[in-house]
Amino acid sequence: MPTTITHWINGRADAGSAERTSPVFNPATGEQIASVNLASATDVERAIASAVTASLSWGRTALSKRAAVLFAFRELLHARSNELAAIVTTEHGKVLADAAGEIARGLENVEYATGVPNLMKGGYSEQASTGVDVYSLRQSLGVVAGITPFNFPAMVPLWMCANAIACGNAFILKPSEKDPSASLWLAELWREAGLPDGVFTVLQGDKVAVDGLLEHPDVAAISFVGSTPIAKYIYERGTAAGKRVQALGGAKNHMVVLPDADVNLAADAAVSAGYGAAGERCMAISVVVTVGDVADPLIEAIADRIPRITVGDGAVAGTEMGPLITAEHRDRVAGYIEQGEAAGAKVVVDGRLTPMPTSGFFLGPTLLDGVSPEMTVYRDEIFGPVLGVVRCTTFDEALDLINSNPFANGTAIFTRDGGAARRFQSEVQVGMVGINVPIPVPVAYYSFGGWKASLFGDNHMYGPEGINFYTRGKVVTSRWPDPATSSVDLGFPRTR
Ligand code: NAD
Repeated sequence: MPTTITHWINGRADAGSAERTSPVFNPATGEQIASVNLASATDVERAIASAVTASLSWGRTALSKRAAVLFAFRELLHARSNELAAIVTTEHGKVLADAAGEIARGLENVEYATGVPNLMKGGYSEQASTGVDVYSLRQSLGVVAGITPFNFPAMVPLWMCANAIACGNAFILKPSEKDPSASLWLAELWREAGLPDGVFTVLQGDKVAVDGLLEHPDVAAISFVGSTPIAKYIYERGTAAGKRVQALGGAKNHMVVLPDADVNLAADAAVSAGYGAAGERCMAISVVVTVGDVADPLIEAIADRIPRITVGDGAVAGTEMGPLITAEHRDRVAGYIEQGEAAGAKVVVDGRLTPMPTSGFFLGPTLLDGVSPEMTVYRDEIFGPVLGVVRCTTFDEALDLINSNPFANGTAIFTRDGGAARRFQSEVQVGMVGINVPIPVPVAYYSFGGWKASLFGDNHMYGPEGINFYTRGKVVTSRWPDPATSSVDLGFPRTR
């Protein structure tokens, strides 16, 4: 019998009404291993009510005490990250080393949030006007929610919850229904770290849970990470309901290789960033843009590396690439290869033909040459192990290609020419840029976010913009006058 995955409400596992469930698979075996309870409107209501109560006292808890919980959580997560990595690998399929990598990047956000006493400091201007001082405060919002994608079941929730909680909010996580167990493991860890009941809630579910959060007047802000159509929906519906929303969407990340680049270094980077996590990363490289005569040697070097990638069960030591998340998604990605071929792209390496484990949702790494901007394989986010090569003649042509794409999450340039790299960083219309770095995910003390169809909202995620998102500013103007000097003055207050 598959196990049942529950919600986490008011500091404990909670089955909810359990009217509907969704299957959870191990993508490496194709077997159903659990079923997750999907929240009903009543479950949403109960979860929010407990979060509201918890937020009242947590928001008033001393910064030093909040930081102490964050430090305890950091220690526990650091010590026990292997347990979480195993959960991620079982339900997502990514290899253990990659799961450990996502947790390490999530941990950075917890470490950043431990500095909350410093991060929430306001400013103070003494004698802004005669006898008048002006100062600013940053205060928590109350209840905030995070809706997260399947591809980073540990890291993306940590991007959000560490800062949201440190800032004094109660946080409700609505994880992906495809790999929901990491959320419950995190909930147990928060409890062990001493977080009061109700400050961290998990609401398992689908559109019913999401719509409940979007509509509820007691939810002040929504952080979302997922695909572009849903990001747009969340942003529009959430802001229409008067909430603060940051909604990160999909991607189509280009890696430009200039003729002077080191071909081996660029090929290593393209293979790592294209096929790592089976291409199911929002910062994965999916388009290699060659400039001039680097194309042939680069394609040869990439093709040469592909057969050496070990594809299989991510839980087995030595595996480098695991399966895709579901059978439907695997078939969809394979369909893109077919469409690319039919549209005239050359299939240099065909992942459909790679010898694979017989069960599980596997597809081998694929390389397509001669991809052009009108092909679906170029236009759509594929989210699988498919690298397409677009050949350009000039640097300007490569830059125009990227800047014409509606997605603008990450991009990278490979070159030995500092001037070209500097021009690229300045002129490329993309939120995160790598120079000889294929997956430029910013460290936790910067912020993460794309431009255009890759982000709806004004604040990027985590880092300083995350603190800004999870707090509200207030400015106090104060005067302690001698009552004897008081008089009526109907004029508009001016500084004197
Ligand atoms: P998704 O958009 O299908 O789902 C994301 C979340 O939204 C899940 O929790 C899901 O339950 C919920 N959801 C799905 N359909 C919904 C609907 N109709 N109404 C309300 N809620 C709904 O995304 P996914 O497939 O889980 O994740 C992959 C996508 O996420 C890719 O597009 C990838 O690029 C993107 N992603 C982006 C970033 C980033 O930082 N920009 C990071 C990771 C993933």
